[in-house]
Amino acid sequence: MFKLFASESNNETFPPVFLFNSESREEEEFQPLSKKGVRMYSCGPTVYDYAHIGNLRAYVFADTLKRALVYNGYQVNHTINYTDFGHLTSDADTGEDKMMKGLKREGLDISLESMRALSDRFIAAFETDIEALNILPPSQFARASEYVKEQITLIKTLDEKGYLYQTSDGVYFDTSKFPTYGRLGNIDIDALKDGARIETNNEKKHPADFAVWKNGALGWDSEWGKGFPGWHIECSAMAFSTLGKQIDIHTGGVDNMPTHHNGEIAQCESATGKQFSKYWMHSEHIQIAGDKIAKSEGNGIILKDLLDKGYSGADYRFWLLQSHYRTKANFSYQALDGAKQALTRLKKLMFTQWSDERGTLNTEKQLELVSLVNQDLDTPKLIAWMHDMIKDESLSVGERKTLVLECDALLGLGLADDPEEGLKALGHIAFNTLPEDVQDMIEQREVARVARNWTEADHLRDALKLQGYEVTDAPEGAQVTKIEK
Ligand code: AMP
Ligand code: ZN
Repeated sequence: MFKLFASESNNETFPPVFLFNSESREEEEFQPLSKKGVRMYSCGPTVYDYAHIGNLRAYVFADTLKRALVYNGYQVNHTINYTDFGHLTSDADTGEDKMMKGLKREGLDISLESMRALSDRFIAAFETDIEALNILPPSQFARASEYVKEQITLIKTLDEKGYLYQTSDGVYFDTSKFPTYGRLGNIDIDALKDGARIETNNEKKHPADFAVWKNGALGWDSEWGKGFPGWHIECSAMAFSTLGKQIDIHTGGVDNMPTHHNGEIAQCESATGKQFSKYWMHSEHIQIAGDKIAKSEGNGIILKDLLDKGYSGADYRFWLLQSHYRTKANFSYQALDGAKQALTRLKKLMFTQWSDERGTLNTEKQLELVSLVNQDLDTPKLIAWMHDMIKDESLSVGERKTLVLECDALLGLGLADDPEEGLKALGHIAFNTLPEDVQDMIEQREVARVARNWTEADHLRDALKLQGYEVTDAPEGAQVTKIEK
């Protein structure tokens, strides 16, 4: 297991971890099922297109949760899945398969091979995104099309136990046989019935019943005919296979709760007779100008758009973490600029002024930061605490730097990066790689500055600007960045 502590941990003295459980709708003290480690499953992307910046919040949230648990001394076995078939545009049993939509959009033929090729492309893009966002790789990625056998076995178990019925278009889970169906988010099943007039499938016994198998020309052979397992079955079978029949934490976005996660609970608990996940955790949506971002609507900004505009993954992550994961946040470039500036200031401090500072861990102060993250991952408060602590002159600079590194183990902003690499990523250019005439001008400017000849120093700064270089003064000397055209 990776080690996250910047310094030696004293986690026996840490306050308990409290997490908001969507099932009880309360913050609960986290108690893992087993001392051996935490089993955590995160619903992953449907890989028919690029993940938009809203989708990525779900994984930054899961990563922040994992970092907090590891910081508190837990081993975390974490699965993120790839949905590479079976997720319909309605989230339930109607609409088009999103992968099919992707194949048509790309002009590809409708075959399992093309589906694989399409998902390969978007899986690669997703992995590039999560690396840019400093998301720690999960213990395993699970790809739905590689777990079809396990999904069919789970459907068979449910069939043998009498939970399923067949219709002309597939096999359905009979929610009347699972009395607590809809308990996540307190779904009013009767209201669903009232709203079912638009329901296209008259063969369903109840509108809440959901498909565990859909017939289709594209898919796999089974005793129910050719087709594919339902989206909810995918996640349950992959969680069982990679983590076990009972897990500690299941994460997703709030939109996963009503249908997808209630479906998972019903199937898993009917199959095993045991509680499936002890804690359910959901991140809220990111909006743009108050509207939902949805790649299905075609209005999704993707991370690459931000990178192309000169922001880093860490800038976006920092912006995300300034809001609590359970609140909606409104994305704007103006807000992202603010995050970028603040993070750049922090990085410059760590990579220049404080780069050679060393200090011991002030464990009393460490408890303050842990108590914030252990309060249902209060990253906005943790960030505010870090900013205040940096200015706290009752602490030595070395102590402050050490505490920033502890915060970074939780926030994952790259503040612990190698200073030289970190500066390069900020656009700083090593002096000896600059053209000779530029080096000369910088040296002349240093001489002017030391002589307090501000007119000459400013004149040289302007001349450097004309050559395309920005010079800023740091205690260890001039820092040079290339001006973006
Ligand atoms: P999908 O690829 O559509 O299966 O979605 C991947 C994840 O993104 C799911 O956990 C969704 O709940 C989440 N999600 C979808 N839209 C948003 C949004 N606008 N903001 C935050 N999370 C979202
Ligand atoms: Zn899922």
